Amino acid sequence: MNIQQLDFRVMQSRPLSPSEGYENLVAITIDIKSDRSTPVYPPVLINISLHSSSPRYIFQQLVMEQETQDTNHLRLLAYLAEQISTAATSLGFGHNGFVMEIDYKVVYVVVRSDHPPRDESLSSRASLLRLVLSGGVRYREETKGLKMETEPCSICLDNLVVSGRSNSKRGIPTRMTCSHVFHDGCLLEWLQRKNTCPLCRTVLYDRSTILNNVD
Ligand SMILES: [Zn+2]
Ligand SMILES: [Zn+2]
Repeated sequence: MNIQQLDFRVMQSRPLSPSEGYENLVAITIDIKSDRSTPVYPPVLINISLHSSSPRYIFQQLVMEQETQDTNHLRLLAYLAEQISTAATSLGFGHNGFVMEIDYKVVYVVVRSDHPPRDESLSSRASLLRLVLSGGVRYREETKGLKMETEPCSICLDNLVVSGRSNSKRGIPTRMTCSHVFHDGCLLEWLQRKNTCPLCRTVLYDRSTILNNVD
């Protein structure tokens, strides 16, 4: 397989004022598909906090998160690291903290005829990821009304926010249509098994729509 197209996009970004702290939070969605739109790897959601803007450091963080040895995958992460480094510098790395949300799409050309069969579970996972991301509570902007400092995520029972920072292991607080808030990582896992809110049992997606949704 050859890599045909890399599409790196900063969806949202914002420098933090000194009162908001000096953390550099980056939320990355990686979507890897073939030219026939078939997912090659499951979509990935990565939350990292940058302590350096060097591409080498960022690359190491991404490799640690992904635990991959695949050469193609490592090339994708190296490119991603360089782009993040440039974006971090232009956001004022070293002078202020920031939050940045990145969308990274990779398209492969399937050269040989051993085209991977369409995998129902991968494409439905991609749809679920989109559903979860659409509920993302913008860090510090929309969170003032929520008592996230003290409230736990009811899926993992860890706090939604830990001393003013988003929980880097579990992810970013995400609100579903029923208005309940969970970590995005916890929600994604939960929604792969159930289609209802763990607290109030509101139906969050229609199973048939998610399973047939291949774009
Ligand atoms: Zn959680
Ligand atoms: Zn609910």
